[in-house]
Amino acid sequence: MMSTFTVNNPATGEELQEVIVSSNEEVLAALKAGHTAFKTWSKVNAHKRSALLSKWADLVRAHREEIGELITRENGKPLAEGLGEVDYAVSYIDWYAEEAKRIYGRTIPGHQESKRLTVIKQPIGQVAAITPWNFPAAMMTRKAAPALAAGCTFIVKPAEETPLTTIRLIELAHEAGIPKDVVQCVNGDGPRIGKLFTDSPYVRKITFTGSTPVGKELLRNCADTLKHATMELGGHAPLIVAEDADLDLAVQQTINAKFRNAGQTCVCPNRLLVQDSVVDKFTEKFVEAVKHLKVGNGLDQDVTVGPIINKKGFDKIVNQLEDAVSKGADIACGNEYDYNDEKGYYFIQPTVVVDVNDTMKIMQEETFGPVAPITRFHTLEEAVEIANGTPYGLAAYFFTESYKTGVYLSENLEFGIVGWNDGAPSGAHIPFGGMKESGIGREGGLEGIEPYLETKYISTNI
Ligand code: NAP
Repeated sequence: MMSTFTVNNPATGEELQEVIVSSNEEVLAALKAGHTAFKTWSKVNAHKRSALLSKWADLVRAHREEIGELITRENGKPLAEGLGEVDYAVSYIDWYAEEAKRIYGRTIPGHQESKRLTVIKQPIGQVAAITPWNFPAAMMTRKAAPALAAGCTFIVKPAEETPLTTIRLIELAHEAGIPKDVVQCVNGDGPRIGKLFTDSPYVRKITFTGSTPVGKELLRNCADTLKHATMELGGHAPLIVAEDADLDLAVQQTINAKFRNAGQTCVCPNRLLVQDSVVDKFTEKFVEAVKHLKVGNGLDQDVTVGPIINKKGFDKIVNQLEDAVSKGADIACGNEYDYNDEKGYYFIQPTVVVDVNDTMKIMQEETFGPVAPITRFHTLEEAVEIANGTPYGLAAYFFTESYKTGVYLSENLEFGIVGWNDGAPSGAHIPFGGMKESGIGREGGLEGIEPYLETKYISTNI
């Protein structure tokens, strides 16, 4: 019998849609179809692939309002952010539609007069993607666009909380003329479908965005068939405010970076490290700004912070706050909840915690919520040590007007993405990704297509 799962609106608990669970047989059939389609898609010339991607981008743009609202309904983020995510998602399709035409090889001078040495780039094969709920559109297009541009076929399993956006985007890809077996979507739980992906001889690459423990499990499962893997995993971003920072700029950028998507992004600043000579002034300005944020249903016009995605996420945040308070931290504002277990919605008032130290969970575990802990530091060396002191290495931010301090921090922070006076460093044209346990590989920019290509060397003896 066909089984389904329900997608709910996290702001109200309202049921949005039933989605059909893909059975094992259906997933395996889709993988086989993607493998077969690779034989023809990989031979389609780059200009044609580019044109099809551009058409897909145009169609998504034409449905901007519909998709933006869908993102808000299933993810909860404010509508302005839902629409912003559509633009961000399209920017990856645009970028890789262009990059499809720039996959260059090279020639190497021969070591014998008769030898001609050539290096060519070829698509890797079928790519299987698993994506999270926090950016249901952009995390998918950031993978699908370079894969298709390179000549790979692509299959995705979105998170069960937010499959509707992905399903709609894949429909539009088909409407644009990209063949059905070239870009596919399957639905259901991650552990089961992930194992079908990693076990399949028809998949040559796994690309995953999600939590670090799941990324590690997928990597282990890729070993038996030696699949290529890109891992975009968790973060625990530090944000350093040096004593010579422009505090108004720092506050404004921190608010945007911290509370976007209710703090549920992998690059959200989770540990605010402020130099002791300015910590009181920064905290006062920051708390004042936080009090202006409005929590509620993302479809209401003036709402700036939406709900927490589910009970598991809510419980983790509340547990971190209780732990911090029990170990001596103080609440400067927030720490109020509006939730209903029966209906299934969870809101947390934006919260600032002060007098935080390294023994608290909030400083060690990724926080996926609208909570900003502030800790003080004395020297820049101390700030770097605290910042680098977790297994994560995705994004870091700092604020300083001093070039010397900026260079020191840029070079010593062990993070893949560094924002200097910049709380929003992402974009389709830049390499996004983490060091240490935040991931392997980069998505976006020049670097983002390389993981979908094999390098082949041809030695011709004439
Ligand atoms: P998650 O629990 O790891 O889930 C992500 C995806 O993996 C979902 O589609 C999930 O499917 C699937 N999954 C779960 N268990 C799996 C398993 N054993 N094998 C294969 N797939 C499995 O993470 P999340 O809570 O959705 O997302 C939040 C995390 O993503 C955070 O840690 C965040 O930092 C990270 N993130 C990283 C980036 C980046 O670019 N580095 C960007 C965004 C988010 P089901 O839930 O449907 O079972």
